[in-house]
Amino acid sequence: MSRLFEAQDVTVAYGKIEAVRGVSLAVEPGRVVTVLGANGAGKTTLLNALMGVLPARGAIRFDGRDLARLPVEERVAAGLSLIPERRELFATMSVEDNLRLGAFRFRGRPQEGGSLEAMFALFPRLKERRRQLAGTLSGGERQMLAMARALMGRPRLLMLDEPSLGLAPLIVAEVMRTVADLRGQGVAVLLVEQNARAALQVADYGYVMDGGSVVLEGESRALQADKRVVETYLGVL
Ligand code: ATP
Repeated sequence: MSRLFEAQDVTVAYGKIEAVRGVSLAVEPGRVVTVLGANGAGKTTLLNALMGVLPARGAIRFDGRDLARLPVEERVAAGLSLIPERRELFATMSVEDNLRLGAFRFRGRPQEGGSLEAMFALFPRLKERRRQLAGTLSGGERQMLAMARALMGRPRLLMLDEPSLGLAPLIVAEVMRTVADLRGQGVAVLLVEQNARAALQVADYGYVMDGGSVVLEGESRALQADKRVVETYLGVL
């Protein structure tokens, strides 16, 4: 299978401390790939480096093109999108206006961006709340709006940083179902999660990070059965 996205030997340092050390990973088209790991393993740092928010060493290729030296906006134009842990919505704007801003990169040619109708079909809850201010949404609704807004920009690779953070289990399941739905729409997903149980249920493939490096990788089913993963990440609910 061709590789849509590939990172090779990526290293990120804060001053003298390397928070990510020699990480390599790949995402194939239409696949959900997860990066698991405990607090401080380097997951957020890795995503920020892939998006170009943080400088990094190593190769980052998308569709055969080397993105490693390109600024964030050019990576967005190439089809990358990152939803940070903080979700970063415009709190004093309505759900609908937040969505419209998601298609900002298509200004002047809105027909190329995602449509509000398509987002409302994917997230019916957002349709009910289309005129509500984003800052008044529940945590789960906010995560859904963050995903819908990112999708308005028609990314080919959507990177999510801990979408389950702070959400009740039922809402986590809903968010993960939506992630699985994206596969059917041809969007590849790189999902960073501490909630290994939920992430491995939806992902096709996973990487486990510890101390800044990938210590284990494999098909989700194999990881779910791996003794080290079970003991370290799945043992307690
Ligand atoms: P969490 O799940 O808690 O967000 P993580 O796996 O995403 O953890 P990172 O946030 O990437 O981990 O942090 C990796 C390491 O880098 C940690 O030791 C952290 O303290 C350190 N770190 C993160 N940001 C900075 C920064 N701006 N300056 C210095 N060190 C940092």
